[in-house]
Amino acid sequence: MKQTQLFGTTKKETPSGEVSKNAILLTRGGYIDKELAGIYTLLPLALRAVQKISAIVREEMNRLPHTSEVLMPMLQPHSLWEESGRREGIKEIMYDLKDEAIGLGPTHEEVAQDVFRHFVQSYKDLPRAFYQIQTKFRHEPRAKSGLLRGREFMMKDLYSFHLTAEDLIEYYDLVKQAYLKIYSRCGLNAIYTDASGGVFTKYRSHEFQVLAENGEDTIYLNQAGDRAWNKEVVQEDDPEFLQFCSGEIIKKNAIEVGNIFRYDNKYSKPMHSTVVNKNGEEIEVLGASYGIGITRLVGTIVEVYGDLEKSKMIWPASVAPFKIHLIELSEGLGEDIYNVLMLSNISDVLYDDRAVSAGNKFADADLIGSPIRIIVSAKTQATKCVEIVLPDGKTELIKEKDLINYLAKN
Ligand code: ATP
Ligand code: MG
Repeated sequence: MKQTQLFGTTKKETPSGEVSKNAILLTRGGYIDKELAGIYTLLPLALRAVQKISAIVREEMNRLPHTSEVLMPMLQPHSLWEESGRREGIKEIMYDLKDEAIGLGPTHEEVAQDVFRHFVQSYKDLPRAFYQIQTKFRHEPRAKSGLLRGREFMMKDLYSFHLTAEDLIEYYDLVKQAYLKIYSRCGLNAIYTDASGGVFTKYRSHEFQVLAENGEDTIYLNQAGDRAWNKEVVQEDDPEFLQFCSGEIIKKNAIEVGNIFRYDNKYSKPMHSTVVNKNGEEIEVLGASYGIGITRLVGTIVEVYGDLEKSKMIWPASVAPFKIHLIELSEGLGEDIYNVLMLSNISDVLYDDRAVSAGNKFADADLIGSPIRIIVSAKTQATKCVEIVLPDGKTELIKEKDLINYLAKN
């Protein structure tokens, strides 16, 4: 895409009222535009990152057995929440319509259980699972950290239904593996963390936590650094905890990028969602739910990879809005190369065709953060070369004729 065609521009000033790294860098980079606290427009750059993350999430979800994608309504009847017994508890969080007993969905356990019971009555149809990627609405009084905590945000939520606990546990473990793969493909190291299951379930839930200075959560790591307990379930003198951390307490700030819950019959019981088993008996189905914060992931990647002091971001290639930033230092110099890239199906390219100074272009490229830069100047052109700048700052001169080959390999 030509940069002159891109909607949204970078900004020199720190946006007023923003304190978090991700909000500042994303606003300055022309990624997002704030409407209200915790409510943002995703401009083309942020939307492209969201689309790439969503594609990774879909790929890994679609690999799970018995699992398909759906789209549930955002408007939910209060009656379902009354049926499940959660209406009182959700009142503070749910945005309700004025004249109808309907609200904007903060999560979808109730709707999912309702959809499920409309279709599945026999054990033969179990297990079943479905997921969606959708905007959620939550009244968040602490919406001060950009995309990390929105009042409106995108989530991938998956719901699974099982006949037996063994089957549920088996599926839960597959989802855990899929989640770890998703985060790693997004360039993040997410730590599997024991957390509280909330008031209704006797089980712990599991969170996926990414270490970050500005993270709102506090976690306690084991010595290998690959498992953690959320502070909310830690008592520092608990023998089980001391054994977990081998006596050495490593306490870190982290961002919760995912959360999975086993809740068994918490919803199927009050909502009378049963199946008939082999012996003709009615059994309440067992369930679990699994969330990933899609827009929170965008914010998290910026918290991890962004540099506020240098006004600089470098995206992991897998989720970069544009993997390649082609920068010409005098007008028209990059046009031929851009056309060759397009013809060679290398389309993940932002081409800075603007008539602005080299200094401006480089400052903007720092904020936009493409992992590969191709620079074309009168100097490089004289030798029929382009200059490549890699994420670690290393530069290379590549012959124009070798460029396609080079990019196919990198
Ligand atoms: P938190 O403890 O951070 O408020 P939560 O436990 O309420 O989150 P869940 O209901 O488990 O969140 O939602 C699943 C995932 O959705 C979370 O792991 C997180 O990544 C993301 N998420 C939750 N709330 C928000 C929000 N307000 N803005 C952006 N992402 C969110
Ligand atoms: Mg959670």
